[in-house]
Amino acid sequence: MEALEKLELIGSQMSLEPAEDADAVARPPGLVHLPSLSGGGLREALPGSLADPGLHGRGACGHSPAEMRAAMQAVTRGGGDPAPSLERKKHSLGISHATLPDGRKMPMLKTLLTSACERDCYYCPFRARRNFRRATFKPEEMAQVYMQMHRAGAVEGLFLSSGVAGGGVRTQDRLLDTADILRRRYEYRGYLHLKLMPGVEREQVRRAMQLADRVSINLEAPSTERLAKLAPHKVFVEELLEPLKWAHQIRQTEAPQGAVFGRWPSLVTQFVVGAAGENDLEILTTTAYLTKQLRLARVYFSAFSPVPDTPLENLAPENPWREHRLYQASFLLRDYGFELEDLPFTPQGRLPLEMDPKLAWAQQNLQDAPLELNRADRGELLRVPGIGPKGADAILAARRKGRLRDLRDLKALGILAARAAPFILLDGRRPAYQPALL
Ligand code: SF4
Repeated sequence: MEALEKLELIGSQMSLEPAEDADAVARPPGLVHLPSLSGGGLREALPGSLADPGLHGRGACGHSPAEMRAAMQAVTRGGGDPAPSLERKKHSLGISHATLPDGRKMPMLKTLLTSACERDCYYCPFRARRNFRRATFKPEEMAQVYMQMHRAGAVEGLFLSSGVAGGGVRTQDRLLDTADILRRRYEYRGYLHLKLMPGVEREQVRRAMQLADRVSINLEAPSTERLAKLAPHKVFVEELLEPLKWAHQIRQTEAPQGAVFGRWPSLVTQFVVGAAGENDLEILTTTAYLTKQLRLARVYFSAFSPVPDTPLENLAPENPWREHRLYQASFLLRDYGFELEDLPFTPQGRLPLEMDPKLAWAQQNLQDAPLELNRADRGELLRVPGIGPKGADAILAARRKGRLRDLRDLKALGILAARAAPFILLDGRRPAYQPALL
């Protein structure tokens, strides 16, 4: 079978998976440390063209308002997205796009080393007992086809995972071999996100961290109990959580010796949302642990969507707004100083779907006790809707030059002044909210 045919076979099934946002991480320009079996040396690299993907003009989950509306319609009315044929072709090969802070889209190949899998996770299109045509790459073959696409300008990054074939350790070895060939034989300097397999060994985690810009293992569920409803043969703590802990320990205790870019990669994970009866409090409790204790760069949430010919094929799809609210809440926990108890959970442990959790907090806590922006500290500023980390820093810097007197001062600092207005004081007065001025 031709390599592109294999990619199409894999891509056709991956399109059934919950979407995991493609992502890229910041990389310092300058010297790059190429690993080699004998220890490696220093070589020059391309300048760091990849940076943290931005959310500019988009929702916290990275989707634009139009995409969120389309997703909602697809769920509620069964509508589809009539993509142009070229886009469909790229998509069928597994090419998707990460959004960079400057708005540029980075084409990324997201694929598997093999679509064969000996596990039988209930939500997964690649599960063992599902009947479809599988495809498998040898490491050399995958590295070669990826480099052909990269040199042709079709892709700039690779997100490489695999079905489990011959155990997690052997599968991980093949993923590592592929990464090693890319980095050493082809001297590939572009973005590489490597998946860790369930049951991976600690030394393999270290090797993956030396080769990749980002490594991840999907927890899929927030606890052992919930995972049992989704993937009864995965072991939550030993197979999934422990490798994330190892990666964190390695970053904390070891110098990034042998790491391609002279630093350790970022860590991420993903949850399937809405298929295991879990509530948002459970998901965000584990998320808070992962981002605060293990310093994960990000937790991804994928609203469940049923896959034909799986045990969960008759389960209703999850509302994409739930995914969106989870992203917003996770950013409040990670970047805004919020604690779990600050979030507006219902008695059932769910976040309201109809309202941004930060706005809900502000309505409960700031509506009747507005914050004086000329005195508030950074943590207090971050609690105000419309003020993010950059905005808070801009306010602190502006206050060193003079007092903030009206909403135009805030707007000049790039702050969503209309959103902040109901919750603030400027020079002791509630600002007059005049939309025409904003
Ligand atoms: S181990 Fe991975 S590829 Fe295999 S069935 Fe489970 S989720 Fe799917």
